[in-house]
Amino acid sequence: EKLLRRALDLQEFVVFYQPQLDLRTDRIVSVEALVRWNHPKTGLIAPSHFIPSAEISGLIVQLGNWVLATAARQVRAWQPKLGRIRLAANLSARQFHDRDLRRHIAEILDDAELPADLFEVEITESVAMADAAQTADIVRDLSDGGIRVALDDFGTGYSSLSYLRSFDIDVLKVDGSFVRGIGRSTGDETIVNTVIGMAHSLDLEVIAEGVETREQLAFLVSRGCDAVQGYVIAPALPAAEFESFIAARRERTSA
Ligand code: C2E
Ligand code: MG
Ligand code: MG
Repeated sequence: EKLLRRALDLQEFVVFYQPQLDLRTDRIVSVEALVRWNHPKTGLIAPSHFIPSAEISGLIVQLGNWVLATAARQVRAWQPKLGRIRLAANLSARQFHDRDLRRHIAEILDDAELPADLFEVEITESVAMADAAQTADIVRDLSDGGIRVALDDFGTGYSSLSYLRSFDIDVLKVDGSFVRGIGRSTGDETIVNTVIGMAHSLDLEVIAEGVETREQLAFLVSRGCDAVQGYVIAPALPAAEFESFIAARRERTSA
């Protein structure tokens, strides 16, 4: 906790950006903000190594708000050059249960001058289902504020289908662990296929994460998946590299 607090003070955290590709339009329509700790000695540290401690100590609220504010300003700054790109940001359990969540987000978006409809929060399936009745209220509140909500890591927790139906969410993110089985495990292929079908019949968009190969991509296209995110498109990139990635991609597709 002490180290994390110090790192926050010393501004050692950085936000990386991973593109999300819309499969119908073949355009990068959104970007997920993923935090890293750029440690002066160790170099880049992945979030799985520090988010859990930040969550326990409560520091995640400060860190999370910093990520939201930084990413919102960045995506807004890209607008003139890159056009309308939506920002997706991960919320931890503590942030999600913050009583003033909607107001905090509204303030951050206001400061960044980013419209609410260009902002999406991702909450994991386990956080959402831990207290499903409360989740329904929080999600409704966000949704009333024009903020989109995605259910992250879908398929790794326990979902109540009746709650899933009642949540005012917009997107299901199929967890990468199932996507990785495409071409190797018929079980995983069935799960991915079923989640896509279920999402569509609930009128939800579905995005597959952790897409690494052309084969997985082709499978997802053939099953009507709406969007993909993964190394096959690009890993999470520092802001400047994300910008050149988009520019290079535009040049390629317009050529
Ligand atoms: P997530 O939200 O499910 O993010 C997807 C993770 O998969 C990211 O790991 C991403 O870099 C990685 N990934 C993307 N494409 C591929 C691929 O093709 N193959 C593989 N193997 N992995 C891929 P990352 O950046 O290490 O983040 C891990 C988790 O940490 C995130 O999972 C999210 O739950 C959490 N996290 C990251 N940033 C934040 C944040 O700002 N706030 C909170 N509360 N949690 C965060
Ligand atoms: Mg996520
Ligand atoms: Mg995920």
